[in-house]
Amino acid sequence: MLLLCPKENTVKVNICGIEHEVKEYTDHFNGDLHLGQIDYGECVIKINADANEQMKQEALCHEMTHGILMHLGYDDLSNDEHFVQALGNAIYQGFTVKENK
Ligand SMILES: [Zn+2]
Repeated sequence: MLLLCPKENTVKVNICGIEHEVKEYTDHFNGDLHLGQIDYGECVIKINADANEQMKQEALCHEMTHGILMHLGYDDLSNDEHFVQALGNAIYQGFTVKENK
């Protein structure tokens, strides 16, 4: 699973051929439940720096799902927060494979 680089606080992801920078922020969020945000104009995914590592990864999957749907032309689905939440979580779970010890 892709981890945010703790040193530079930045990593890049590819959304339908467009590079998006992933950055951590302590502000930019209206407190409560917003752990991430995608800026389509600046091609930046903002992740709440106060979230724990798992929540950051889930937020990244969630925001990437928004971006992918939007770039594929599925604007309606991208605006369906419940759908994006479910699909993003499913994708995130795809990266979590338990190790056999
Ligand atoms: Zn969302």
